Amino acid sequence: MMVPPLTPISPTKGTGSPPGNSTATMNGKQVTAIVVGGGVTALSTARQLNGLEYTHTPDSCQLKERHAAIAHGQRIYQDQLPDDLSSCRGSTPSGCWFDSFRHTTLDEAVNCLAWQENNARAVDWILISKSKAGGSWNSYDPNQKTISPDTWMALPDAPIDGNNQNLARHNTPHFAKTDAASLCRYYQDYANTHLPQERMFFNRTVTTAYPKEHLWHVELDDQTQVSCQYLILANGRMIPKSLKINGENNNPNVSHTTAQAIQNTSHLKPGKSILVIGTGLSAADTIMDAMCKKLKVTHVLPREHTRLEAKYRPNQPYNALKSLSPESYKEHHALAELISGKAESENYQQLINYQLLEIRNDTCILRTGEEEDITQKFDHYAILIGSEPDFSFMKNANGTLLDFDAEELEPETMETQISNLFLVGSCTGEKFQRFSLGHSVSAAETIKDRESRKSRNQ
Ligand SMILES: Cc1cc2nc3c(=O)[nH]c(=O)nc-3n(C[C@H](O)[C@H](O)[C@H](O)COP(=O)(O)OP(=O)(O)OC[C@H]3O[C@@H](n4cnc5c(N)ncnc54)[C@H](O)[C@@H]3O)c2cc1C
Repeated sequence: MMVPPLTPISPTKGTGSPPGNSTATMNGKQVTAIVVGGGVTALSTARQLNGLEYTHTPDSCQLKERHAAIAHGQRIYQDQLPDDLSSCRGSTPSGCWFDSFRHTTLDEAVNCLAWQENNARAVDWILISKSKAGGSWNSYDPNQKTISPDTWMALPDAPIDGNNQNLARHNTPHFAKTDAASLCRYYQDYANTHLPQERMFFNRTVTTAYPKEHLWHVELDDQTQVSCQYLILANGRMIPKSLKINGENNNPNVSHTTAQAIQNTSHLKPGKSILVIGTGLSAADTIMDAMCKKLKVTHVLPREHTRLEAKYRPNQPYNALKSLSPESYKEHHALAELISGKAESENYQQLINYQLLEIRNDTCILRTGEEEDITQKFDHYAILIGSEPDFSFMKNANGTLLDFDAEELEPETMETQISNLFLVGSCTGEKFQRFSLGHSVSAAETIKDRESRKSRNQ
């Protein structure tokens, strides 16, 4: 077997201009792979389709026993993943496997990963993204701080190490966090300096994608049509879930994201009130912002939360936060104490097992756990009950909705039940981006392997 030549890493230099090529030159063309999305997972996938390979570096590997099956310089990608990945917090085996070359299960950084450019295995790809590089981070409040240490937000081949001028660091005793504005600058810089500009189309939306005659046909909002053999969806979870009740939509007093809630409550004077529904990070950040504004927060929580002993479901972010050091997560820790009833504030109260039935201007109808309907008045309503991926552009050739189960993915490849359709990143349900990087390795390496096999057989 021919071993493809390896070249030392030398990132393709971008023009430095903001990405946003015209798609006109692409119309009618066929490429090997299309990546939909512009977030960290899409950028990581594109980088590997462009030739980057992650390999094992046992000379400095601190987890030799765990990584014993992989020799020096061998690709991290394995078509059979080890069984023993259960101690990892990531939600997919490929995410956990890749992360194990960067962190221990106790989150300590390890150095078991190297990377190199292998142009012989690169494939012809393009990336199409509705947003600028950075994906969802462009839609968060610019001051939104990360929960994770800033080093976890990086792409491995452009580590965040304190020397990045673009990144604000918010130091805590154990680690530094960064913020949404800094991350957007970092990802845009990565797209400009590590990826070829002519292959990326930002501010363009995929409106339809359908399979026909062994190809994916992809249509954009500017009527451009392109086709490919492999379609990789890195399109995030961009649709906020709603309660689907009267008065919820098109109401300036109602928000469905933290960024909206922060913006829509900016005019409220101290002492005004906000009802927050939700138990995730978005609800936590919204409550913390509201309390900084000295608003009166009423927090609707499900039945399992009781004032004296909050029973956190194991995968709820609050549970993870509670176990983190109070010094590093000062604000979140203080909030967890409030929610669990260990601390009190005159600006925070809970409604447990209440259901919001209707919003009429600034009043609402709530149903108590005893099935009694009551009317209350709030100045703002933040409904933060999660988000979901939008696959409505995925069609059959006859225009009907394409039926696939986003939770039924091949663990080694991240391929759906539909051949040559891959899902990577948060659209799979992964909450933390550190564990999404392994998805991009699985999908990109699978595609490169298939293409290499084809060219060897020709
Ligand atoms: C408030 C908040 C704080 C968070 N803090 C952390 C943290 O500290 N640590 C952490 O690890 N994670 C955190 N997360 C989660 C993190 O933001 C996501 O995991 C991450 O952004 C997911 O990256 P992604 O590339 O999978 O998708 P996204 O970043 O969501 O990107 C999806 C991309 O798809 C594009 N797209 C969608 N539909 C189309 C279409 N039809 N055509 C073209 N493009 C399309 C979008 O424009 C976007 O570019 C946080 C999330 C929130 C809400």
